[in-house]
This record gives sequence, C-alpha cells and structure tokens, in this order.
Amino acid sequence: MIYLDNAATTKTAPEVVEAMLPYFTECFGNPGAIYSAGFAGRKAVNEARRIIAEALGAKPEEIYFTAGGTESDNWAIKAAAESCRHKGRHIITTKIEHHAVLHTCTYLEKRGYEVTYLEVDREGLVDLKALRAALRPDTILISVMFANNEIGVIEPVKEIGDLARERGILFHTDAVQAFGQIPVDVNLLHIDMLSASAHKLNGPKGMGMLYIRSGLKVGSFLHGGGQEKGMRAGTENVPGIVGFAAAVSRAGRMMEDKIRRESALRDYLIARIEEQIPYCSLNGHRERRLPGNVNFSFRFVQGEALVLMLDMKGVCVSGGSACTSGSTDPSHVLLALGLNPEDAEGALRMTLSEENTKEELDTVVEYLKDSVRKLREMSPLYEAFLKKRK
Ligand SMILES: *Cc1c(COP(=O)(O)O)cnc(C)c1O
Repeated sequence: MIYLDNAATTKTAPEVVEAMLPYFTECFGNPGAIYSAGFAGRKAVNEARRIIAEALGAKPEEIYFTAGGTESDNWAIKAAAESCRHKGRHIITTKIEHHAVLHTCTYLEKRGYEVTYLEVDREGLVDLKALRAALRPDTILISVMFANNEIGVIEPVKEIGDLARERGILFHTDAVQAFGQIPVDVNLLHIDMLSASAHKLNGPKGMGMLYIRSGLKVGSFLHGGGQEKGMRAGTENVPGIVGFAAAVSRAGRMMEDKIRRESALRDYLIARIEEQIPYCSLNGHRERRLPGNVNFSFRFVQGEALVLMLDMKGVCVSGGSACTSGSTDPSHVLLALGLNPEDAEGALRMTLSEENTKEELDTVVEYLKDSVRKLREMSPLYEAFLKKRK
C-alpha cells in the first residue's frame, strides 16, 4: 500500500502506542480518584498538558482536552458566541473552513447570529483588506483556519491575530492541519483560541484539545463532573491524552527534518505530475502551503473515479469532495477558489508523510498517468475538446 492521505488521518506512531499501553492496563485508575491508583493517571494527564502547552507557547492551564478537532471547533465558536452575546452577534469566518467550523456557524445563524463568510483569492488566501472591511462594531469573533485541509494553503494568521487584538475581537483558529507540521505559537500570533487534533499528527483518533487564552470569558462545553476545571466534564481519556502528548513530542523533535523531507517530496510530485500529465492544474498557493500537500485538478476526469482506480492499485488518496464521506458534491473549498464545478470535481488530493519515498511517488505518477488517460478516453467532453482543437 502507498498511503498518500495524511490530511485525512495519519498512522499512529509506534512510540505513541507504546506510551499509551500502560494506561489501558496497569495504570487504569480514574485520574479523579484520591487513592494512589488514580495518581499515576493524574500525573500523566498533568505532564501531557505541560508538553502540549509548551509546544504551543502556552501555559498548561490554558489547554483543555477534548474528543477531537470537531469538538474543539464546536466548543470554541459556540462558547465564544454565547459569552460575547451582550457585545454583539456578528462572526467572521471564511468560505474554506472545515465543516466543523462552517456547520457550527450555520447552526448559530439559525439562533440569531450573523456570519460573514470571507472569500479567498484564486490561491486560497484570505484577503486582509476584505477582513478589515467586514469588521463591525458588533463583531465578536474571527475564526480563520491556520492551514487548509484540502489545498494546504497557510493563512496569514499573524496579521489576522494582530488585527483582532487591535480591535479587541476574539480570534479562534482551527490549527488541526498545522499543529505538529509547522511552527505554531499562540503568543507570537496573538491567537485566543486554537483547535488541534491528535490523529492528524500520528496520535490517536478521537483525541483533541482546545487552547483558551487565560482570562478569556469562554464558557464550558460539557456539563457534569468537574473535570478540566469544570469546562469539559467527563472522565479523562487518559491513554488518549498520553498518546496525544507523545505524538506532540515526537512531532516537535522531527519537525525540521520532516518539513525538509516532505517539501522536497511535495515539489518533486508536483513537478512530475506537471511534466507527465497534460491539462492539469495545481490547486492552492504554490509556496504558502503545507509541506505535505499536493492538490491537482485533472480536466475531463472525475476525482472520485481516480480515487477508486488508484485504490485498485493499492494507493490511498482523496478526491475533490474530501471529508464529506459518501458525498460527491464538488468541494466548497475548490469552488471558493473560483474553479468551475467540473474542475472542482476533477480534483485529487495527495498528502504526504516523511515516510514516503520518491520511488513510491514515481509509481503513483505512472498509475495516475494511466488512469487519467483511460478516463479521458471515455469522456465525451474530452472528445469534443480534442475535435475543437483540430
Ligand atoms: C480533520 C480536521 C478537523 C476535524 O478533526 P477531528 O479530530 O477529525 O474531529 C477539523 N478541522 C480540520 C482543518 C481538519 O483537517
């Protein structure tokens, strides 16, 4: 198998599994218990919080564990909206957010909030002038993702953070794709709330965290026992938390090397596709993109068909409607770039890890070239296009 879908999820690293195991077996005690068998779990949770805070430039008490990126996004946006209700009801986000953000915003729209969905340019970048123009006296929250999950574009988070700080507006960022892949510092970037997820950085699935800057009045998410300082009730997922921290340590240790390796592989794959396959175009900014992200539209081809053909060869990739499993609607992200629906449907996302090799990528390009050719041979649109060119 050649795995090129690391933006969907990553393999849990062996050292992460290793770190988690004792917390299923010997150290299974409830971390809330006051007897000594609970102590090991409590200590591990505290240590994990310290490790993750340090990786973000945050304080341990600003880290709240959740059950994933989706929960963190829901919490951040709903709780910020509710706690700032007296100040206003206007929220600014973008058209290219993950559905965890977009659907939370539509939920709030039905409950009396107004949401501005900012356009992005052809390369996927948020326009700061448009953001400035969208600000209103009743704007209470800006939520812009750190890096996009489909096209890998890295947004101008520092500029957005500065602007939000200057205007006294809360700034939340969905950093699920960025955390562990590129440097993220909540203080340098003036981030007030940040969502992250363990399974996107070789940690366990169903484990995430929300950073909430201390002093902010953002309410609790789950009500029950007093866990997470009463902010997110429920017995802590101790193995998950330990695994998350192990993944964060590993990612920090490897980051420089991983960025170097993956960017080289990414640029190699982009160059090979551009030289081998006609009528394709790269989606997303060429430089300002995550080290492992490659996203192409192949004209006259359905991305979903390519995904299935590559799957038969043992290659895992994603189509243009990634993340909404089962859906074949063209991606909202690609439409926001201004692609027409046909080109959006012809998109293929390949997201690399440091373990991929050039040989694997050569193999994938061969398969891809062959599959694209076969699909185009069956396409009436392609036939018409060739006729017109003659
Ligand atoms: C994967 C992802 C999420 C959702 O995270 P889960 O942990 O799978 O719930 C949210 N935002 C972005 C940008 C993602 O890539």
